[in-house]
Amino acid sequence: MQPGDVIAYMEMCNREGASLQRGMNFQLGANHSVLLMSRRPNAPYIDRIQDSGEVLVYEGHDEPKSADTKSPKTVDQPEFTPKGTLTQNGQFKQAATAFKRGIRPAERVRVYEKLFTGVWVFNGEFDLIDCWNEDSDGRQVFKFKLRLRGDSEDEGQTTVARRELEHDRVIPSAVKLEVWKRDKGKCVQCGATDNLHFDHIIPYSRGGSSLVAKNVQLLCAKHNLAKRDRIE
Ligand SMILES: [Zn+2]
Repeated sequence: MQPGDVIAYMEMCNREGASLQRGMNFQLGANHSVLLMSRRPNAPYIDRIQDSGEVLVYEGHDEPKSADTKSPKTVDQPEFTPKGTLTQNGQFKQAATAFKRGIRPAERVRVYEKLFTGVWVFNGEFDLIDCWNEDSDGRQVFKFKLRLRGDSEDEGQTTVARRELEHDRVIPSAVKLEVWKRDKGKCVQCGATDNLHFDHIIPYSRGGSSLVAKNVQLLCAKHNLAKRDRIE
């Protein structure tokens, strides 16, 4: 699977072997974690893209709603559960801290982003490289810094796929939504609606931007591969 691939919710769950509900899933797989981004207008969490799409900053999760916590948006995001064990925020923080101290390699994180109900995009595999707390409207929230991995031995990706990763960048949600609307959720070449991919018209490595809709288009898997062959 390539960064920019559009997948159905069920496909994502099958790939991860879990029914994904929560945004943060520490060490869901044998050697990776999973983060779900949701940036729709009423999305609960705020995430940022930096460095032309190489770096994502993901916001932690709020206190779960309970009788004690009437409004999770008014209290600090929790590091520990009431029982004193680590929350998802706490587990990701521990991994990021250990990485910064050189105790362990960076936690590998697959990031999926919700575009519409049932329609998700694989944003790629990242390294978790930092974590900090930040003030947000008078309360403390967690921020996790993730850097797109330049290499991946995952699922037998070829050298070509690895090279693709080096020059693909995460496309901001607003751009994805604009492109989806403009291209009507279809491959611009054949009109297919399955196995779609957000394609950089001019690759990042050749100076094409990830940040503007005019350099991004929807292609089906077949036409995406055909284009890659031409470029290679
Ligand atoms: Zn096509």
